Amino acid sequence: MIFEQQTDLMGNHFWLPDLSKVITGRLSVPSKLLSNKHSAKSIGESVLRQLDESREQTGGLRLSQSGACVKQLAYQYHHADGNGMQIDAASKIAFVIGDITESILVSALMEGFEQSGLGHLYCAGVDQETVYLNVPIRDGYTAAISGHPDGSMQIMTQNNEAISCILEVKSMSDYGFKKFRKEGLGPKDSYYSQVQSYMASKGYEWTYVVAYSKSAGAKDAEILEDGAWHPVSAVHGQWIPFDQEHVFHIKEKFRSVILSSDPEQIDRPHGPDKKGRLSFPCDYCKYYKTCFPFGEEQAVESKWLNKSTKIKVYTGEQSDK
Ligand code: SF4
Repeated sequence: MIFEQQTDLMGNHFWLPDLSKVITGRLSVPSKLLSNKHSAKSIGESVLRQLDESREQTGGLRLSQSGACVKQLAYQYHHADGNGMQIDAASKIAFVIGDITESILVSALMEGFEQSGLGHLYCAGVDQETVYLNVPIRDGYTAAISGHPDGSMQIMTQNNEAISCILEVKSMSDYGFKKFRKEGLGPKDSYYSQVQSYMASKGYEWTYVVAYSKSAGAKDAEILEDGAWHPVSAVHGQWIPFDQEHVFHIKEKFRSVILSSDPEQIDRPHGPDKKGRLSFPCDYCKYYKTCFPFGEEQAVESKWLNKSTKIKVYTGEQSDK
């Protein structure tokens, strides 16, 4: 069934479409393109932009950082030297592959909407818009923090009501994707904060986050507790309702960063484990060598093999060799 019941934070029920099925349905049936909005040139341009784009080079705060560490934001805001995790060739390749995949998923959704009449996608791809979240700082001064949602949509509910909402496309590691499929995103996840800021900027009540696994394979499967199994889709989605209280905390975080005069005024919200080792988000932080001045990098071998579940074919016959 394409419609599933979703509940907002006030307890109201909505029947909203599972858009991951619209996307995978369109991708698995290659056919003539329906939408006249596709442009190979614009898709190519957005990918090539990665080669000359400077990420995080300015002190400007962005809505995509709504879930970031407050001290990390302060380092950025005050133009501290980025001496921790750097954007290298591997990161660039990952960004380019992410952009290509995002373009394909957005195009497939656009096509799926044309086929099904379930909705309409706008402000996506080359038409992507800039939105602003107003953050009151002090009397007479408000900061407008900008962001770029992947798209906006008008969706038809099962009761034929039109709902305006945000579309956000995310690539996830194998671990992150498994967790997303199992638990979905919640207030502790940075993507949850990001989409809350977008909804607040646009005055929308819902976001659909569609994620894909960076290491998905055609033979991926999942074995259930009763022993039954099913193939795992490379694409999964979640409807997230607007969370006013969460947006209040995001605004407070941006406000405290803007009002700070020195990043060292802000306590570290994250720290090392019992072995003294940093984990996410610190080990991916651009400023960890400033934040933890005695930190040093070491190569560590993992003792754990990456467990995987794959579909294998059994013939019912046995080799006589
Ligand atoms: S190292 Fe960790 S605590 Fe320090 S700024 Fe970075 S993310 Fe925040």
